[in-house]
Amino acid sequence: MFLDELPEFHSDVLEVLRQPLEDGEAQISRVSGSVTYPSRFMLVCAMNPCRCGWYGHPSGRCTCSEQSVRRYLSRLSGPMLDRIDICVDVPALDYDELSGAGAPAESSAVIRARVNAARAVQTARFGPDGPACNAQLGPRELRDHCKLDGPCQQLIRGAFERLGLTARGHDRILRVARTIADLDGEADIAVHHLAEALQYRPPEHLRI
Ligand SMILES: [Zn+2]
Repeated sequence: MFLDELPEFHSDVLEVLRQPLEDGEAQISRVSGSVTYPSRFMLVCAMNPCRCGWYGHPSGRCTCSEQSVRRYLSRLSGPMLDRIDICVDVPALDYDELSGAGAPAESSAVIRARVNAARAVQTARFGPDGPACNAQLGPRELRDHCKLDGPCQQLIRGAFERLGLTARGHDRILRVARTIADLDGEADIAVHHLAEALQYRPPEHLRI
């Protein structure tokens, strides 16, 4: 599911996504009873840095006040952000990048082959009755499949204390690090996999 202009959605609508994102189920309760539907999906969202879309751009075209920028970003709650595995800031392109004058990009076919290989590793690891992919790993599976060596433990401990990670945020970083290691074709999570996963946390200015 793709939600464009994420902060434009009503906060009630966004909050109602929390349960299906967490449990892969949507529960609808009425006076006469409740029904639970399967609801496992991949959520992709896009948003501007402010209402006019130009905040932080070198051209200085943003017309929003600091207060309105904060109000715009504060529509996303901490618990909602905590359920998003990967946040990527996409800076505005300059003309050379837009016109393709820079280095050629990887083709989608090459990327697809790498993703399929990583998915095959996960299928082999978890078996036919296990989780479909790393994103679905529960606490016990995380312990079994995301073992960290000494330097990795030191890194995540420092991040946990410095960045004030929640338990959910901590587990999310382990799942992303496991996936980066799988894309790398590595059996074990290494420090650089974990460091990359930490970079995909929601940026500080969203966590207000
Ligand atoms: Zn603006």
